[in-house]
Amino acid sequence: MIKKVDHIGIAVRSLEHTLPFYTDVLNLPLLGIEEVETQLVRVAFLEAGGTKLELLEPTSEESTIAKFIEKRGEGIHHVALGVVSIKERISEMKEKGIRMIDDQPRPGAGGANIAFLHPKSTSGVLFELCEKKGMKG
Ligand code: ZN
Repeated sequence: MIKKVDHIGIAVRSLEHTLPFYTDVLNLPLLGIEEVETQLVRVAFLEAGGTKLELLEPTSEESTIAKFIEKRGEGIHHVALGVVSIKERISEMKEKGIRMIDDQPRPGAGGANIAFLHPKSTSGVLFELCEKKGMKG
């Protein structure tokens, strides 16, 4: 059911200060920057050999990313698994006893539909299910 690791989400205080490491030191191509208003974040995607890195910068202190950084500092925030038919995948997870943060898919960056699993059900890893438009099973 999982197609691949679509991306790894990394919480940063400032895209401006963080991006040069990824683009100039690691030489990863920057795919784009966009603001996801519903999540109160600005997101930069970098291509890393088929899996992407998603840098998440909070745009408000109310952002869950701002709260994450406050509590745990900058660093790896979530692992996103590429799926098709995300609604069915959510039902499947729940049938298998996994607690979901999102019972319904919601819009994420890049026009994707996303849903988070609760880390209490996954030994502490925040997993995101991520369905890209046009992704075929
Ligand atoms: Zn993500």
